[in-house]
Amino acid sequence: MNCIHCGRRADYHRAVHEVATGLDLGALCARCERERLGELPEGPARSGRTCIECGGNADYALPEHSMVFDDRDGGERRTEGFFVTDDTPCVCWRHLTGTADTRERTTLPFTDS
Ligand SMILES: [Zn+2]
Ligand SMILES: [Zn+2]
Repeated sequence: MNCIHCGRRADYHRAVHEVATGLDLGALCARCERERLGELPEGPARSGRTCIECGGNADYALPEHSMVFDDRDGGERRTEGFFVTDDTPCVCWRHLTGTADTRERTTLPFTDS
């Protein structure tokens, strides 16, 4: 997946997961995350499903890339991907994109589709 802001390939940082549709729209690279959102909180989000920046309704979840090893077969099997949990930080459209313009809401700048 490519970063929705800078368009660079960013497969192993965060995905941008649209809450309404359950689709992963793209990725968010570490640099753009820092520049636009600062450090995202680790562990339990204070929010649930609200924007970590403004407390408004969250449109997007930003799950971190994670790799889970399954011990039952000696750690051979692993599952990796982006898993949205209750601890996943969420943001609204405005804080994800840095714009209040909602006209282009359905199209993020860089997505794979
Ligand atoms: Zn980026
Ligand atoms: Zn917000």
